[in-house]
Amino acid sequence: SPADEESWYFKEYGRLSTHRVMLEDEARTSAYRRAIAATCSGKVVLEVGCGSGVLSLFAAQMGAVKVVAVEACPKMAAFARAAVQLNGFENQISVICGLIEEVVDQVEAELSAARPEAVGPPCADVLLSEWMGYMLVHEDMFSSVAFARDRWLVPGGRMVPGSFTLVAAPFSGNDLVEEQCGFWRNKPYGLDLSHMAQPALAELLQRPVIDVIENSESLLAAPAVLWKLRCALATAEETREQCLEFDFVTGGDGGLFHGFAVWFDCNLAPKIGFSTGPSSQPTHWAQTLLFAEPGTSAHGMRLEPGDRVAGTLSWQALGRGMRVDVKGKIVLRRAAADAVPFEIGYDWTL
Ligand code: SAH
Repeated sequence: SPADEESWYFKEYGRLSTHRVMLEDEARTSAYRRAIAATCSGKVVLEVGCGSGVLSLFAAQMGAVKVVAVEACPKMAAFARAAVQLNGFENQISVICGLIEEVVDQVEAELSAARPEAVGPPCADVLLSEWMGYMLVHEDMFSSVAFARDRWLVPGGRMVPGSFTLVAAPFSGNDLVEEQCGFWRNKPYGLDLSHMAQPALAELLQRPVIDVIENSESLLAAPAVLWKLRCALATAEETREQCLEFDFVTGGDGGLFHGFAVWFDCNLAPKIGFSTGPSSQPTHWAQTLLFAEPGTSAHGMRLEPGDRVAGTLSWQALGRGMRVDVKGKIVLRRAAADAVPFEIGYDWTL
């Protein structure tokens, strides 16, 4: 049920191990620190989802006049509040415990107190958040950021992050397929368990696989930008539902097609950002791998240079999770008549 899903979601964010994974993600956290240094000095900052409080602490260190840090998970809000005290920023940072959608009055009281002389409705100069999920939009947290933006971001104020691109490429997952099937095919304890290889693979591929592509030859075509998200303008609805077109031409030496790798590039502030793509420093988002169903003709199909893979990638939010569909066809350069259709579909829960 939606209520169970929400409680599971915030329970997950109540675990310090979850926050450690994010803080140890150097590419992510150091890029945020640089962006905060470039944008927050002398500003009133609102953070949606402060977690352990680290980004708000960065903002205070960099000279933000005031930081209003909102966190829904009570345990993390308490840790963040204690971190503010331990580090001596009580005068600059106020931590509010609650869903941003449900603590409107407290946020407004803190924003007003930040600029007692100001006329007009309470507002922030910078809206800071680390809201991104796998494939960017999984978890549907952008809707909470848009909620805060529409109420409190001063006209001309800055969103951090400011924009994103969603990038994809067809890929060969042969290493992963071999590794999965190999265990069952290698006669463990001298027994023939080879009949479990395909079902084990099918089980793994019931969900998108979150993994890094380590071999650059695993991408079968040049990555393409499928979508741009401008955080100052986008509606929650746009992040909840999309249908994007792609048309890839196989390059290099070709290879065995297994599906699509999807990732995002994050622009935090002008010239400051990070990529979650395969040729960048790895992040905890890795890449999202959407596999063609094992046993279908597209799965493992050999692509030669010049062969095309064309179709659509679409999604619809289902609570915090989402429905993901890829529909398309493989058009072989030498035999255009024999286009091979494929479909990939998931109900991708948390
Ligand atoms: N800013 C921290 C944590 C990012 S994780 C960091 O960068 O390390 C996202 C956090 O947002 C989680 O702690 C989650 O509990 C919180 N969150 C998600 N939706 C929220 C909402 N609607 N209101 C308040 N907090 C929310």
